[in-house]
Amino acid sequence: MPDRASSLDHAKNPGALDLRNISEMALSHIADFVYVFDREGRFVYANKALLDLWGLTLEQAAGRNFFDLQYPHELAMRLQAQIQQVIKTGRQVKDETPYTSPTGREGYYEYIFNPYFAADGSVAAVVGSTHIMTERKRSEDAARRLAAIVESSQDAIVSKTLEGIITSWNQGAAALFGYSEEEAVGKPISVLIPQELYDKEEPEIIDHIRHGRRVEHFETVRLRKDGSHVNVSLTISPIRDEEGRVVGASKIARDITERKLAEEKLGRARQQADDAAAAAADAAERFRLVAEVTSLQIWTASSEGTLEWANQECANYFQTDLETQVLGSAWAQFVHPDDLSVTLDRWRVSLGSGARYETEFRLKRHDGVYRWFLVRAEAMRGPAGEITRWFGTNTDIDALKNAQNEAERSSRAKDAFLATLSHELRTPLTPVLMAAASMREDERIPRDAREQLGMMERNIALEARLIDDMLDLTRISRGQIHMRPKACDAHTLIRLALEMVQDDARGKGIRIEQHFAARHHGLVIDPARFQQVIWNLLRNAVKFTPAGGTITILTRNQPSAEGAPSLRVEVVDSGIGIDPAKLDKIFLPFDQGSLAGDHRYGGLGLGLAIARAIVDLHGGAITAQSGGTGRGSTFIVDLPGATAFTGESADPAEKARAGAPAEEQPEEAVSLRLLLVEDHESTLRVLSRLLTRAGHRVVAAGSIADARRAASIQPFDLVISDLGLPDGTGLELMEALRKTHGLGGIALSGYGMEADIERSREAGFIAHLTKPVDFQQLKGMLEEVAKDVGLHATGHPWAKS
Ligand code: ADP
Repeated sequence: MPDRASSLDHAKNPGALDLRNISEMALSHIADFVYVFDREGRFVYANKALLDLWGLTLEQAAGRNFFDLQYPHELAMRLQAQIQQVIKTGRQVKDETPYTSPTGREGYYEYIFNPYFAADGSVAAVVGSTHIMTERKRSEDAARRLAAIVESSQDAIVSKTLEGIITSWNQGAAALFGYSEEEAVGKPISVLIPQELYDKEEPEIIDHIRHGRRVEHFETVRLRKDGSHVNVSLTISPIRDEEGRVVGASKIARDITERKLAEEKLGRARQQADDAAAAAADAAERFRLVAEVTSLQIWTASSEGTLEWANQECANYFQTDLETQVLGSAWAQFVHPDDLSVTLDRWRVSLGSGARYETEFRLKRHDGVYRWFLVRAEAMRGPAGEITRWFGTNTDIDALKNAQNEAERSSRAKDAFLATLSHELRTPLTPVLMAAASMREDERIPRDAREQLGMMERNIALEARLIDDMLDLTRISRGQIHMRPKACDAHTLIRLALEMVQDDARGKGIRIEQHFAARHHGLVIDPARFQQVIWNLLRNAVKFTPAGGTITILTRNQPSAEGAPSLRVEVVDSGIGIDPAKLDKIFLPFDQGSLAGDHRYGGLGLGLAIARAIVDLHGGAITAQSGGTGRGSTFIVDLPGATAFTGESADPAEKARAGAPAEEQPEEAVSLRLLLVEDHESTLRVLSRLLTRAGHRVVAAGSIADARRAASIQPFDLVISDLGLPDGTGLELMEALRKTHGLGGIALSGYGMEADIERSREAGFIAHLTKPVDFQQLKGMLEEVAKDVGLHATGHPWAKS
């Protein structure tokens, strides 16, 4: 202590009391140790009691540290550290230790190290004092410490007599079992043991204890005050009296509920993992079996797309070493060269995007035969969604593919057949139709004979119409029907369609009423096709309405969300009606509703199918309504985008195309030099007569050779040519004449398919007319051409020939 140290300082004061001696004497008389260390932990002073303990003189001890004095190494280390701690912190250190001196004295010591401060406030020395503890104090201290430990322990620490009476009870026990110390002490330990366990456990534990043995980490179940069970781990030790006789037991109980739960959870997790592994092994085994017996080719590929594994079926198919000839990228050598680039491109796309791979290609079998396969692959993904590998299958679809090709071939053949058939059926109609038309106008033929001719003409036209329907149908089914929309007046087109059925209706005594109420009747539509739709509906109405009935055609506008209203056309008849169940079916090709097998009305059941296809292509809708059999029918056509029709086009061609009847032109007004090429003799004859009568100068040719000869001798304004000629096609002729003479032409053909028309246009024809030729249409065209070539020769020498 500083006080004591300062008194030591005074001792150096000359002329004062010899305090050094006095204090030395005083210190030597105390049984406790007093000593001083320098900053290095070396003794600079030790009182007599301490020197006696060591058996040294002060001179011998001075300058030594604990190590030099042979203190046990660990203790010396601790003491040395504590001295340094005091120097560093300037604070007191209190501790205790057992120590046996070199002189053989055993003891238990309490010591205090105090800092001795220099004038500058730093610690100049450490002053120590050690107190020798009595035996009693020691055991009291130990008991106090132990009690503190017991009390603060989380574990339940309980002691009991050999008879099982509880003698002590800590906080941990109170927390674990729910009894307070007062409640527990004096009670039998059996209150904590479930009935069914008592006989099984307690006698054995007591037996152990009596024999002085410990029971360690014994896991069991104990009862709480509230009757609930708790999992505990028990460690039980015997308690002995002074003579060493076992008088009781101390018991440490640890709550292991959490651990038990964790263990159970772990057990379950292990079980699950085991089950999953077993299931996976099972699945793998099943997969292996499937892969072995299946006729599918199965393979897996890495995420980069190289083949890693292929099943036996692959080996069978290629009959080669899978390892070297198929796996990796080698498989590509078996893909048909024509399919390879598409196959690889698609594979790359899938590898890049992870999208399912699905394509068809041909693979070469071991015998060199290529067979079609449907190849599919699916990406297998890892936990983060990354592709781990690809799983693929190849399905042999060769038979299917061949059947499909066959079906496509036969469908093409059917269309070709229908086209040929219609051509064959139409060609003979042309001369008949034209002859009838010309004779009907011939004043020299008696009137009644001319009426008969009119009947013939109408019937032939009807037959031609059926053939057209068949052709239309093949076009619709192949998506080859194209609309040529232009601005039209719907009312004009409806009137034209009405004119076409007027005669038949009049003949049957059917009245036709018209209510054109639509104010917006301008539409952008294909006029010919629209007219065809309305004509079909009117024709059916006339056909299915008995004599004396009525047909009403009406138009009106329906408002629409898109702005422009739609135009609604309704054709209402008082005829035989339609079975409501058949209302939607009648729009299917070849469906004749309830009339199937009834030959009274004729027809092929194509009209409505074609009408619906046309209306659909215009973005409209067609529906049928009927109150039932005998109650008449209503057909409704809705077409979007109706506008007020302003455009009476100034251009007569436009007008003609819009369906307005072309103004009657005097026949003498136009005269063209025409080269007419046709190998069908009677057609050639009739046509050239009609054209000549219309005021044109016609040179007739039966072959390409004839035509080219004629063209080399004299100039022509236009060529009118059949396409099927004995020495080539009209297309070749047109191309040649266009090149050599700059001529244009009109093609005549029984073939009216879109592709045929396209080919004519390419060859240089300005128009393509389908046989039987509508002579009025041909005449109209020639007038247009005449205007173009600047001929308006009213006084032309051949005009009246
Ligand atoms: P087709 O008239 O050549 O049989 P459509 O396709 O024009 O072919 O008509 C299909 C069927 O719809 C007809 O066979 C008939 O049963 C029924 N149908 C069409 N229009 C009417 C109508 N106005 N009244 C009664 N039935 C009709």
